[in-house]
Amino acid sequence: MINGEHVYICNIMSTTSYLSDRINNLSESATLKMTKLGRELASKGINVISLSVGEPDFNTPDNVKDAAKKALDENYTRYSPVPGYPELRQAIVNKLQNENGLVYEPSQIVVSTGAKQSLSNVILTLINPGDEVIIPTPYWVSYSEMVVLAEGKSVFIDTDIDSDFKITPAQLEAAITPKTKLFMFSSPCNPTGSVYSKDELAALAKVFEKYPNIFILSDEIYEHINFIDKHESIAQFEPIRDRVIIVNGFSKAFAMTGWRLGYIAANKEIAAANDKLQGQTTSGTCSIAQRAGIIAYNDGLESVQQMKEAFVRRRQLVYDLLNDIPGVKTNLPEGAFYFFPEISSFFGKKDAKGNVIKDSSDLALYLLNEGHVATVGGDSFGNNNYIRLSYAASDEALTEALRRIKEALSKLS
Ligand code: PMP
Ligand code: GLU
Repeated sequence: MINGEHVYICNIMSTTSYLSDRINNLSESATLKMTKLGRELASKGINVISLSVGEPDFNTPDNVKDAAKKALDENYTRYSPVPGYPELRQAIVNKLQNENGLVYEPSQIVVSTGAKQSLSNVILTLINPGDEVIIPTPYWVSYSEMVVLAEGKSVFIDTDIDSDFKITPAQLEAAITPKTKLFMFSSPCNPTGSVYSKDELAALAKVFEKYPNIFILSDEIYEHINFIDKHESIAQFEPIRDRVIIVNGFSKAFAMTGWRLGYIAANKEIAAANDKLQGQTTSGTCSIAQRAGIIAYNDGLESVQQMKEAFVRRRQLVYDLLNDIPGVKTNLPEGAFYFFPEISSFFGKKDAKGNVIKDSSDLALYLLNEGHVATVGGDSFGNNNYIRLSYAASDEALTEALRRIKEALSKLS
C-alpha cells in the first residue's frame, strides 16, 4: 500500500505494426516479467519478497571469482573461439565422463551465453517451419516461445500433480506424428521439481528407439539440485544417444546466473551447426566467464553440496507451510528449487475490490499487489491450475512470504 492506496500493476501486451510478425507473436518471459513487476513495486518503497525468478540466493564460490580476476590480469579479454576455449570444452568432456559416465569429444561441445542460448540455438538448428516439438507440461516458460521463434509447432502432453507431473511412454507415443522433429524436457524439472528415474527414462528411450527421426533435447541445468539420487541423463541409452542433445550450464550449480555460461553436448553435426549459428549471432561467450567456468568444473562440487543442504532444509520448510494453507495442494519436489502448488480452488473468488481471480496469472498478480510476494502464474508454464514459487531465498524470507500468501488468500471470498 502507498498512502493507503493499493498499487495495482498490470502488464499490457502490445504489438506495433512496423515490428516483425516474429516479435509481435512472441510473448514476454513470465518469469522475468513478474520479477520486473516485483522490482518496480519495491522501488516504490514496498517490501516485496521475490519468489519469482529462479536463481540461487548464494554468491558465486570464491575459487570461481578468483579465477575470473586472474583471467583479467592474464588478459583473457579478446574474442574466444566461437564454441568456447579448448580447456573449457575439455573440462566439460571430463565432467560428462566422470559424473555421468558419458563419453564425448571436445568437438561435440559448444559453449554459449547461458543454457538459454544453448536451447535456442538447438531449436533454431533443428526446426523448420511446421515441424512439431513435443513438450510435456508444465515446461519452462521459454521453451514454447523459442519454438514460436523457429516457426515450429509445440505439441503439449499434459500432466498434473497426481502423476507427479511426469509423462508415460504411452502418452509420449500418442503425441508423435510424422511431423515430430524434437522432444524437449527438463529433469529435474523447472517448474515442478520432478525428477525422472533411470527406469522412467529407459521406458521413454524405448519409444524413441522406434522413431529414428526424432531428436531429444534434455535440459539438465538442475542436475546437481537433486534430492533423491544421482543424476540420470537420457543420453545414457546407447540406441538413441546420437539423437540426444544435452543442455547444461553453470547458472544453478555454481550460482553463476549473471555470468551467462551454458553449453550443449551433441552429435558432431549438431555441434558444428550450433557453432555456425553462434558465429553469425553472438560469437563465443564472455572470455572471463569461460576461464572461471574451467575452474568451477575442475575444482569439483564442494560449494554445490553446501547449497544443496540449504535447499533440502528450505524445501521441507516451504512444504510444511504450503500444506498449512487451505485450498492449496502440493507435492514434495525431488529436485530443482521450485514448488508448483495447485491453486485452482481460488478461481472465481473476489478480492476486496470485487475483482475476480480468473486464472493463475491473476492470482500471481493478486499475491504481488496484496501480499507483496512475487510468484509466477502456472499458465506461462502450460498449466493454469498452479503457481510457481522459487524457494531459493532465505529461511526468514520464505517463512514471511508464506505467511503473507496465506493471509492474502484467506481474504479472497
Ligand atoms: N533451462 C531451465 C529449465 C532453466 O530453469 C533455466 C534458468 N534460467 C535455463 C534453462 C537457462 O539458464 P541460463 O541461461 O541461466 O544458463
Ligand atoms: N530459470 C529461471 C526461472 O525460471 C531464470 C529466469 C529466466 O531466465 O526465465 O525463473
